[in-house]
Amino acid sequence: MIINAQQTSEPRTYLDRILEHWHKDEDAEALVQGAQRLTRGEARRRLFRLGHALRRQGLEPGDGVGLFLANRVDSVLVQLAVHLIGCRVVFLPPEPGPGELAALVEQSRARAVVTDPLFARRAADAAGRSIHAPELLSLGPCEQECTDLLALAAECPAVRPDGVPAPEGDEAVTVLYTGGTLGRPKLAAHSHRLYDTLVGLVADDPQDSGSSFFPTMDPGTDRVLAATLLTHGSGHLTSIQALVTGSALVVLPEFEAGAALAVLSEERITATMFVPPMLYALLDHPECVPGALPALRRIVVGGAASSPSRLQQAVEVFGPVLSQGYGQSEALGIAAFGAEDLASEGHGGPSSGAAAVARYPTPRSRSVVKTARRRCPSRQVGEVCVRGETVMLGYYEDPERTAEALHDGWLRTGDMGYLDAEGYLYLVDRAKDIIVTGSTSDNVYSRVLEDFLLTLPGVRNAAALGVPDEEYGEAVQIFLATADDADVDPDAVGAAVTAELGELYTPRKTVLLHQLPTTKVGKVDKKALRAEWTGAALAMS
Ligand code: AMP
Repeated sequence: MIINAQQTSEPRTYLDRILEHWHKDEDAEALVQGAQRLTRGEARRRLFRLGHALRRQGLEPGDGVGLFLANRVDSVLVQLAVHLIGCRVVFLPPEPGPGELAALVEQSRARAVVTDPLFARRAADAAGRSIHAPELLSLGPCEQECTDLLALAAECPAVRPDGVPAPEGDEAVTVLYTGGTLGRPKLAAHSHRLYDTLVGLVADDPQDSGSSFFPTMDPGTDRVLAATLLTHGSGHLTSIQALVTGSALVVLPEFEAGAALAVLSEERITATMFVPPMLYALLDHPECVPGALPALRRIVVGGAASSPSRLQQAVEVFGPVLSQGYGQSEALGIAAFGAEDLASEGHGGPSSGAAAVARYPTPRSRSVVKTARRRCPSRQVGEVCVRGETVMLGYYEDPERTAEALHDGWLRTGDMGYLDAEGYLYLVDRAKDIIVTGSTSDNVYSRVLEDFLLTLPGVRNAAALGVPDEEYGEAVQIFLATADDADVDPDAVGAAVTAELGELYTPRKTVLLHQLPTTKVGKVDKKALRAEWTGAALAMS
C-alpha cells in the first residue's frame, strides 16, 4: 500500500482535486441546498470533521459504509468523507422493501450505515437483521438508537485525517446498487480508476465531450444542479464532476417541476442532469418558456431513453444546450452525444425521424455490438458491450454473476443497439424490454414504439410492455400519459401505430393515465405498470 501524501504538487485523487479548489478562494460558494449555503472553506472543514467522526466509530480503511441518504448537502459531504478515510462507499437505494434493504446491507458487508434521519427506522430494521450488525449513524438527531454523526463531527478537528493508504488498483471503493434485485441484490463495484478517469478527463482536455458529462467552459464559474438522486450513478457522477471542476454544487432535495424551475432560475444554474421524465415535466410546466433560464448552458439527459420528439422540443425551449449521457451502474458515463450534434438536424439529431434512435459517439470507452460473442457488422442489432476504465470490477462478492456480465474485459450491458459505419452507437432497447410477438415471433422494440407514441398530439409520456398472450406468447400493451385537455382516442392511436410501424407494433391494449409511475431515481417504472395494470381488470382498452 502507498501512503497518501498530505500535500502534493499534482493532485492524485479526485478528492485531492476537490480539496485543491476548496483551499483556494475560500469564500466562494461550494455547496448549496435551500437556505444552507457553504463556502469552500466551510465545506472543507466540515468534510474533515466528518472524516474524523467516522473514524471515531472505529471505521478503518477498506471498511464498507452504507449510505442510506436523501438529497442534501451533508449527504454529498459524508460520501466524500467515507472516501477520505479510505473506506468503501456503498450506496443504498432510497425506497427498498425491508427485505431488500437488509439483503443489500448484508451482501455489501457494510460495517456502518449512515442514514438520513427520515429513513432511520427502516435503516435500524435492516441493520438489525444483518449478521454483520453494522453501526447505525444518522445525519442529525433521530428517534432511533443511533449516533448523530453531525453532532459528533462538530467536536472533531477541522484538519485532514492523515495516514490514509491509497486504494489498491483492484479494490472496490464504490458500490452501486442496480435494478433487478429479486432475491440476491446486485452490487456493481468500482475501483478508484473511475474517479481517476473523471479527473484526468477534465484536466487533460476540457473541450472533450467524451464521457465527461460537464466539460467546463469556465472552470470554477459553473453552478451545477444535482436534481437526480445522489445515491444513484446519475446524481453521484453529476456531483463529483461538479466538484472536481471547482463548480458550486446546488442540491435539489426532491424533484418537482415548479420547484426545479425556481431553483434553476434563482441559483443561476449553468449545468444540470435530468432523467427523461424530469425533462418532460419541466417542458410541460407553463413557466418553462424560451429565454426563461438564460444562464443554463448544459443539460445532460440520460439514465433512460429519451424521445427524439421531446428532445427536439427541449432544444427549441432551452437552445442548443442539450446533450445525452448513456451509462449504467455497471459502467458510468459510457458515452455522450454532444449538444451541437443534438441541436443540428442533419446529424442524426432528434428531428431526423420519429422512430430514430439516439446516436452517440463513443470516444472514451470502446463499445462494440455483439451477438454470441461475434462482432456485428454495422447496422446489425446486437448486445452493446463496453470496456474501459469506467466499467465495474464486477458484482460485489458475486463471482457467478460477474462471470455472466464480464467476458475478457468486455461488459455485456444488456442494451441492444447497433453501430453505423462511422462508429456511432444507436440504442434500440433494453434486452429485457423487447417484446417478442406476432405469428413469426418478431421483435418489437418498446423504445421505438414509445418514441413514436410521443410524437402524437396530447401524449406527454408513453411506455410499452409485452404482456402474456396465448396466441403469440406476448402482446403489446401501451400506457399513455396524456395532457389534461387532450382527447386521445385509443383506436386512433392504434391506427397511427399500424400506419407508421406496421401491424407487429399495433397495441393490443391501450391504457390512458394522467401520469406514468416513476421509480425513486425518476425513470418510468415499468415494473409498477406491469404489476398494477397487466392483470385482468383494465380501466380502458
Ligand atoms: P441504471 O443502472 O439504473 O443507471 O440503468 C442503466 C440503463 O438505463 C442502461 O443500461 C440503459 O438501458 C438505460 N439508459 C441509460 N442512459 C440511457 C440513454 N441515454 N439512452 C437510452 N438508454 C439509457
